[in-house]
Amino acid sequence: MKMNAQIKAELISIGAIDIDTTLLGRLTVPTAGPGAGGKAFFFSSGGRRVRLVVDNGSPLRAVMDNGEIVILKGGKEFVRGKIEEELIHCPGQAYITMSERCIYDCKFCPVPKLNGKVKSSEELLALVKEAYDLGKMKGISITSGVEVSPEKEVERAADLVRKLKKYNAPIGVSVYPTRDSSRILKEAGASEIKYNVETMDRELYDKYCKKPPLDFTLECLKDAVSIFGKNHVYTNFIVGLGETDETIEKYYEDLAKMGIIPILRAVGVHPLRFGELEAERPTAQRLLKLTKMARRILDKYGLDARVAKTMCLPCMGCDLNPHVDL
Ligand code: SF4
Repeated sequence: MKMNAQIKAELISIGAIDIDTTLLGRLTVPTAGPGAGGKAFFFSSGGRRVRLVVDNGSPLRAVMDNGEIVILKGGKEFVRGKIEEELIHCPGQAYITMSERCIYDCKFCPVPKLNGKVKSSEELLALVKEAYDLGKMKGISITSGVEVSPEKEVERAADLVRKLKKYNAPIGVSVYPTRDSSRILKEAGASEIKYNVETMDRELYDKYCKKPPLDFTLECLKDAVSIFGKNHVYTNFIVGLGETDETIEKYYEDLAKMGIIPILRAVGVHPLRFGELEAERPTAQRLLKLTKMARRILDKYGLDARVAKTMCLPCMGCDLNPHVDL
């Protein structure tokens, strides 16, 4: 059986798999965002791709059969496909993280707890060169926690973008925004941008997002659309923090109306955050329902999730892409 939207939704909903790690190729452990610090790999089948975390307690198990990876559920074959090698963090992209630490303390994110490295520009440029030399680099994505201030991260990202333009690859940036970040990053040569709202449920935002107010991010997103244009501005919207489907639909539409493509991201609770948030990973049924809603709204506002060249929409590892996966 090849992966279809239903199977992918189930795999995302479970999110983890028991696999002998010697079957996995070159791995990079993500150092930013909610998946930071975990071992994971990309499984692809039927023109779709999913990222699964390695966990020997998972109800899913993967085995090798005739050169293919077979995922078993309840001991029976569920889906078969292959493992896709990553370039840096995801297939086809050099997705680099500048600061693996953060002054904010959003409760769904392990980065502040991991308190990792701040990579120098030289290190980051060398990583991208290595990815480019492998000959499969279709895009470059830059992300970061906030080491000292959002302004400093934007400045560093802009400097990197200027130095990475020589590869003639689309460059996407996902950082915490500042008043001027869209203008600065566009002038530097970035083509796509992502500022995460995380949740649009104000009560949940106040409870879990320990960074500047949501309204500030929304203003910056609006500004980003006027600078980068429709289909080039994205935002992560977490599903599973306790928000209702009605809240998601209402705000998904508000964001789409502004020209932004929201990415519905299934919540994950990192072990470093156990006990700090009440979250429930969405079921496959909920993910499919919300992705259908997303497709309808994106179509209504003339937005297309296939246009993105960098970051999560073309990667599709963690989410259902409303235009590619359905
Ligand atoms: S979808 Fe985004 S966060 Fe997930 S693996 Fe791909 S690039 Fe990383």
